[in-house]
Amino acid sequence: MRSEQDLRQTLRRIDGRGYKAYKDLKGAYRFSVFTLFIDHVQGDPFAAPSKIRVRVPLETAKIPSDLFANLERRLGSSDFLIRSVHKAIQTESRSHRGTGKSGLISIDVGGQEILPRAAMVLNTDFVEARMEVGLPARGRTILGREAEAMLLDKLPRIVEKALLYEHLDQSALCAFADYTENYFALQKQLKALRLVAFVADQSVLPRESGISQKPMPAAEAVPFKSPPELNVTLKLPNAVNGRETVSGMGISAGITLIVGGGFHGKSTLLKALERGVYPHVLGDGREYVVTDPTAVKIRAEDGRRIEKTDIRPFINHLPGGKNAKAFCSDDASGSTSQSANIIEALEVGAEVLLIDEDTSATNFMIRDARMQALVSKDLEPITPLIDRIHEMFDRFGISTVLVMGGSGDYFQVADTVILMREYRPFLVTEQARAIAESMKTERKLEREFEWHKITERIPLAQSFDASKGRKDVKIEARGLRTIQFGTQSIDLQNVEQLVDISQTRAIGYALHFVATRWMDGRRTIREIMHLADDYLRQNGLDALNPFRRGGEHPGSFALPRIFEIAAALNRYRRLKVEQK
Ligand code: ADP
Ligand code: MG
Repeated sequence: MRSEQDLRQTLRRIDGRGYKAYKDLKGAYRFSVFTLFIDHVQGDPFAAPSKIRVRVPLETAKIPSDLFANLERRLGSSDFLIRSVHKAIQTESRSHRGTGKSGLISIDVGGQEILPRAAMVLNTDFVEARMEVGLPARGRTILGREAEAMLLDKLPRIVEKALLYEHLDQSALCAFADYTENYFALQKQLKALRLVAFVADQSVLPRESGISQKPMPAAEAVPFKSPPELNVTLKLPNAVNGRETVSGMGISAGITLIVGGGFHGKSTLLKALERGVYPHVLGDGREYVVTDPTAVKIRAEDGRRIEKTDIRPFINHLPGGKNAKAFCSDDASGSTSQSANIIEALEVGAEVLLIDEDTSATNFMIRDARMQALVSKDLEPITPLIDRIHEMFDRFGISTVLVMGGSGDYFQVADTVILMREYRPFLVTEQARAIAESMKTERKLEREFEWHKITERIPLAQSFDASKGRKDVKIEARGLRTIQFGTQSIDLQNVEQLVDISQTRAIGYALHFVATRWMDGRRTIREIMHLADDYLRQNGLDALNPFRRGGEHPGSFALPRIFEIAAALNRYRRLKVEQK
C-alpha cells in the first residue's frame, strides 16, 4: 500500500497539470492513524465530487464495543459519528479556493431523524467514514498544493477530532447509543400493550416553521402532557436522567379520532406521529414520540398514476363502466388516489393508517345523511372511509388515527376520541358517545359488500428501465421528493414520511435492484418489498450501488422503509403489473 508520502509526491508531481492527471490518485494510502481510500476521482471540478473513505482501525479509534453492541446502539453511535465528522468539517474547511467544487469536503449527514446510513461503518475491526471531496483546480489546472492542504492536513485533523474516542464528546456519544436503543425498545413494547403510538410527556411537537424540522423554541412551545386516562409508563433499557421509565400518552389499537378547533394542534400531533416511525436526534423534542413501524400517512393525491389497484372497497360501479377491480389512471382524482393509497399501503403490510382531514378528499371521508337522501347510493361510486374503517380493524387489524375537526359523524365509529385544546390533549370519548346517542344522524351505513381480501399485484420487470442515452443506469434523487429513474421522473411530492434525500436516492436504486433481482412474474409487490427489506438490513446499503467495483463506496444512501419504496414503485408511470 502506498504511503502518505507517496500521496504528497504524486500531488506535487501533478500540480499544474490538466485535471485528468488526478486519476493517478485512485488507490489506498496508509496514514499514521488511518487508511485513506480514494475510490473515485471526479472528471472535472464541476462533476460530482470524488469519493473517499477514511478507515481507522478500532485499536486506534478506541471506541468501546459497548457502543455498538447491538444494531440499535450501532445505529445511534454511527449517526453520532457522522454528525461529529460533519461538525469537524465545518470548523476545518471554510476555505473553498478554486473552481467548481474545489476544496469541498462533505459527509452525508442527516437531519432530525436517525437513519441507517452508508456514510459510516462501525464494527469490531474499524470505523470508516465515507466522504466526498472536490479536488481543487483553477479552471482545469490542478492545484496540487491546495489538494495537499486538503488531504494531508485538514483531512487528518478531521479524522482525529471526529473519529478518535479520546477527542470525542464521550457522554454525548453514549447518550446517542443509549437513546437509540431506548427508542427501539419502546417501539417493540407497543405491540404487547396493544398500542399503535406513544407520545412522551414533555415532548415538544411543534416545529420552528413550516419549512423546518427543528423544534419550536422552548419558550413558545407548549410541552405535551398526556390526558391522565391515556397515560402509560414504559420501561427504558437505559436510564435517562436517572429514570428507568418514561410516561406519556398511549394511543391504542383501533380507531382514534383527534378532534378540536382549528389551530389547536391536531395536525402537529399527527405529523409527529408520522415521523415517530424514526428515532430523532437528542434535542429534537420528539425523541420519545414512537409510532408503530408500519404506520403510513394516507392522503389524497390527485394527479398520481394508478396501475391496476383493486379499489373496490372504496370505489365501485364507476360511470362509463370503468374498472374499479383493476383501476388504472394517469391522473387520479382526490378520492380514487386516496383509496389507492390505502389499498397499496395495506398491500405491503401497513397496520396503522394516519389520516388528516387537511389533506383528505372530503367525499372520501364523509357522506352525510342529507347527501345520502339527495344522491342515491347507486349514483355514488364512493364508499366513504367511515363505512370501512371498522371493518378494516375487525377483519384485518388495521388501526386508524384520524384528525377530524369537521364532522361528528365519526363519533359513531371511534374507539377513542382525543380533543386538542390549546395544544393539550383531553380524552372525550364518553362525551362524543353521548352526543352520538342524543343527536342521532339519519346516516345509513353504505357498504355494498364485505371486504374480505386485499388484492395483491405482481410487478413486471420489463416495465423497469433505468437506462438513459448511453448510460445503462441513470438514477438520481432530484431533491427530497423526486427520483429520476432512467428517462422517467417519479414524483414523491405527497409521500410525506420520506424524510431524507439519501432515502430518496436509495429508493431509486432499490427499484432497479429489486426489478433485476426479484421480479420474476410470480412474486408480488409485498413479497418483493419484504425480500428487499431483509436483504438491505442484512447486507447493508452498499449492496444497492450497481457501479460498485473494487471496493468503491456506495455514495450517500440512507435506509428507506418498504412503504416508501413501494410508494415510489406505485408512482413510477411506466409500472405494469398483473393482479394475483
Ligand atoms: P390544527 O391542525 O388543529 O388546525 P396545527 O397543528 O396546524 O392545528 O397547529 C396550529 C399552529 O399551532 C401551528 O403553527 C403550530 O406550529 C402551532 N402549535 C402546534 N402545537 C403547538 C404547541 N404544542 N405549542 C405551541 N404551538 C403549537
Ligand atoms: Mg390541521
